Amino acid sequence: MRTYKLFYSLYFSPPTHYGIPRNACKCEICTEDCDLSIVRNGISYITDSETYGPEFTDKTDTVKQNYFIVEDFSTAYNCFESNFVTNGFSEENYFKIDKKEFADGPGDVAFSIEKIEIYDINNKLIESIDY
Ligand SMILES: [Zn+2]
Repeated sequence: MRTYKLFYSLYFSPPTHYGIPRNACKCEICTEDCDLSIVRNGISYITDSETYGPEFTDKTDTVKQNYFIVEDFSTAYNCFESNFVTNGFSEENYFKIDKKEFADGPGDVAFSIEKIEIYDINNKLIESIDY
């Protein structure tokens, strides 16, 4: 059983920053450009044989799911992406947001995966790929 360690970034576009409109916020990021995303990094773990896939409704209005199985870099990547798109951004899953910093919510949230490392059952690094 292998574990995939995914290093990702989240891009937040909140309407306000620390409760202040972004164009009036005096922090480093907003001062430079108030349209810049506020970036935070995170790590997520996915294991071999985890299943994922988007939900869809068939002709009889039954909600079903397309199943895929994690078995390599690209399926681990797709699993993360699928969960993110299906579940949307929720802080429990990705990042504990600072309620003061994002007083009016995080806005649209996008992500990118920068790197995936594969570990074997003994937690030894086998392989790594940068995106
Ligand atoms: Zn700011």
